[in-house]
Amino acid sequence: MKIVSVKAIGMRWECPVMSDAMSVCRVRQALWIKIETDKKITGIGEAFCYGSPLLIAKHIVEEQLAPAVIGEDPTDIELLWQKMYWRNVPNGRNGLVMGCISGIDIALWDILGKAAGLPVSKLLGAHQDKVPAYASGGFYAPGKDLDGLKREVEGYKKKGYRDIKIKIGRNPEITGNAVRYTQSKDFSVTYGEDMDRIRTVREIMGKEGRLAADINAAWPVEEVLRASEDFHKAGLNWLEEPILFEDVEGLKQIRRELLDISLMGYETTQGCRNFVNLMKENAMDIVQPDVGWGGGISELRKIGLAAQGFSKPVSLHSFGSAIHFAASLQLAAGFPNTEAIESEENDNFLKTGVLKTPFEHDEHMKFYVPQLPGLGIEIDWDAVEKIQVF
Ligand SMILES: [Mg+2]
Repeated sequence: MKIVSVKAIGMRWECPVMSDAMSVCRVRQALWIKIETDKKITGIGEAFCYGSPLLIAKHIVEEQLAPAVIGEDPTDIELLWQKMYWRNVPNGRNGLVMGCISGIDIALWDILGKAAGLPVSKLLGAHQDKVPAYASGGFYAPGKDLDGLKREVEGYKKKGYRDIKIKIGRNPEITGNAVRYTQSKDFSVTYGEDMDRIRTVREIMGKEGRLAADINAAWPVEEVLRASEDFHKAGLNWLEEPILFEDVEGLKQIRRELLDISLMGYETTQGCRNFVNLMKENAMDIVQPDVGWGGGISELRKIGLAAQGFSKPVSLHSFGSAIHFAASLQLAAGFPNTEAIESEENDNFLKTGVLKTPFEHDEHMKFYVPQLPGLGIEIDWDAVEKIQVF
């Protein structure tokens, strides 16, 4: 089998306005990568491009990376990964290029699964056929007050979720908060209001379940250290990416101060070596890479197994389209140390509107790993066409 073409597919969907500590999102977008072979097997992957220009990613895929794989056997995945990596070392080890390598890698695993007649989870030596998930939401939005957040979280509980994550940290009054550098400070709240938000969610959850808060790296270290007692009082269990992952000393300090609150991260980190360096320094409790950004299924498999070696659980970050979630499910099913997967609950047509059959879950919101060959899903191309921009 040989690869005959590698094409990028761009999609944009206008979403209800929402924001986290650092960004305001009005349009969701996705970059899919379609790899065709001479044996009529086609693979689809996704490069996670949140906030990146899609056209730049398309050029990286089709002009910078495709030449390394066209004409090659798509089942030689590790070899092709290394070719893409080493041919682009000067500018491609991190950032958008690594995101695009991730997307191509996912498409190659999709091809391998289809050729073998097995879902990717089985190729990885499946450990479970259901993956526990937490509800990911609790964003800021225009006109959304504490009651709005309450109604949202009650909905998650009713659905069967035990664990819930919300956004915090959009507090321009905090000295050193990186939100001051962003385009918009709309829908900001005070530190006190954020603590009320955490408390409110904990009240709705009761004593059961893990409550996570994500700062998207906006706060300075000192602020996180100061907030530790308030976090404990408010009933927080997991704190996600409070500061930039490059500040290893800061993360270690935070981890020590947070005691039994687990430090989770870091979706912005890429590549196994960077994760291993952070694990070696004990700079997180829960390892949280992103399959469409951190290096694809090939690299995340290594990150997950390295985490196993460090006795750390894995919780895959997933905030993309249906392809991203499917790849994450297949991968998470292969790890013995999967703690939970992120299940985005915001309105997102890219995740819920582009499949012929939706993702299925049990009454506790554990997701069944799709069992069709490859990523396990069937794409509704008519639905994709409605939001396709190239
Ligand atoms: Mg996050």
